[in-house]
Amino acid sequence: MNKDIATPIRTKEILKKYGFSFKKSLGQNFLIDTNILHRIVDFAELTEESGAIEIGPGIGALTEQLAKRSKKVTAFEIDQRLLPILADTLSPYQNVKIIHQDILKADVQQVISEEFAGIRDLMVVANLPYYVTTPIILKLLADRLPIRGIVCMLQKEVADRIAAKPGTKEYGSLSIAIQYYTEAETVMIVPKTVFMPQPNVDSAVIRLTKREKPIVEVKDEEFLFQVTRASFAQRRKTILNNLSSQLPSGKEKKEQIIEALEETGIDPTRRGETLTIEEFGRLSDALLGTFK
Ligand code: SAM
Repeated sequence: MNKDIATPIRTKEILKKYGFSFKKSLGQNFLIDTNILHRIVDFAELTEESGAIEIGPGIGALTEQLAKRSKKVTAFEIDQRLLPILADTLSPYQNVKIIHQDILKADVQQVISEEFAGIRDLMVVANLPYYVTTPIILKLLADRLPIRGIVCMLQKEVADRIAAKPGTKEYGSLSIAIQYYTEAETVMIVPKTVFMPQPNVDSAVIRLTKREKPIVEVKDEEFLFQVTRASFAQRRKTILNNLSSQLPSGKEKKEQIIEALEETGIDPTRRGETLTIEEFGRLSDALLGTFK
């Protein structure tokens, strides 16, 4: 029986054997607590028939647990220095493939069709590099991958913003961009002590479950996100003032913006943070003709 990778002793042994030094710029904070890893994998609800896509396997702590609990794991790792280490630590597992690539540049759709043919249930599971959590999640969702969802560790502050409900101070364009595609929930708060080295911020695990169809039907998704970003540009401003100052030629089109707000039953003096995604959807459809 192999010793788990994710213990302080084994992790230190591996790092020493390879003379590995952490790169802060790559968000390298490795998990050294097997219990936390088991819980992360539990939240993904994998079966023996599932496939798992991991981003940033590090020295393989999470990869190992995914390999034990799924049919196949494919992991994207940007840091070449980790490849020989992973080949060693994951050698007992025949169902793991490591791809040396920046996830932001990867054609994940293509990798899925090559690596997961015949696998119907696919989850992304990751302890994300904190310097790029948001771009990674948004890319995976915008790529419309055939996945059931994403379970990932990230900064607690970002998790709070992703899962936020209207009317809270955390609710903003990020909450909308992600909840448009998924149901978002924070499932676990994680202390700094389970990482090596310890990060400066608190962490959380979120589960994003893909909706069968987006929460609201809109004519132009890109424009919906443009309208939401504009609406939150200055949080203390009303929706009317934000839209007229942020949308192209918005000042000249203030009358049309007022009309669109009235037509959709949204009081122009409300602030963006009080609008539901459905309201933003109706508003963006009503504004579309004026701005596009
Ligand atoms: N999964 C390991 C664990 O939990 O111990 C390591 C997690 S560590 C927080 C993040 C990992 O992502 C590192 O291995 C880092 O090299 C890798 N990484 C950073 N940026 C990446 C990118 N753009 N694409 C793929 N991997 C990346």
